[in-house]
Amino acid sequence: MGIDPLDAACQGVPTQMFFPRKGAVGDASAALRVCRRCPIVDACRTWAVDHHEEGIWGGTTDRQRQRIRAKRTGQHGRSRTGTQRKTVAARRRMQDLAGLTVAEAADRLGVSTRTVERHRAALRVMVEGAAS
Ligand code: SF4
Repeated sequence: MGIDPLDAACQGVPTQMFFPRKGAVGDASAALRVCRRCPIVDACRTWAVDHHEEGIWGGTTDRQRQRIRAKRTGQHGRSRTGTQRKTVAARRRMQDLAGLTVAEAADRLGVSTRTVERHRAALRVMVEGAAS
């Protein structure tokens, strides 16, 4: 990612703030305010778009990143198989990180340990949500 995770403005901010409940617009605004003052916001957003992250990343919501992906691919509106693709990608990434400590995963991904914890929590939610 080429960024210094120690610069992240969300260091020390409660993780759950970045995973607001669906449709709870007010809850997202606090995390979005943190991102606004983050020096690595662009790199974080690119990461989240590329990796189909859930929650607030890089000053964007899930929906905003869906739109960014749609623009990239020339698609408009919601992808028909978006949820399925995300679940498959989440399973694959969980397998990639299985057996690694948080520090090892952070090293491999080039992100902070905090980002790995968020990433794992998001992946777990996606995979468990798909299974239920
Ligand atoms: S989620 Fe990303 S942009 Fe927002 S504060 Fe954390 S590192 Fe920065």
